[in-house]
Amino acid sequence: MNKDFTNKFCLTVIIMKAHVDKDTCIGCGLCPSVAPEVFQMDDDGKAEEIVESVPESSSDAAKEAADSCPVNAITVE
Ligand code: SF4
Repeated sequence: MNKDFTNKFCLTVIIMKAHVDKDTCIGCGLCPSVAPEVFQMDDDGKAEEIVESVPESSSDAAKEAADSCPVNAITVE
């Protein structure tokens, strides 16, 4: 495989990470219902991310959860 192709291919691979700011989360439970593969509720009633990297198949759901969070506690990047 030629090096130029490899470099171009690598630039298209994006790893999405999700993070919940627990100090901001009000525990509404929305994000685990929208993206159960990415978020869950912890014992304190706050959301937490359950994966280090968001699977490609869950990226749209993770973004939707972040957009829908009523207190903007979720960061996806
Ligand atoms: S949607 Fe936001 S406020 Fe609701 S549980 Fe998830 S992080 Fe917390």
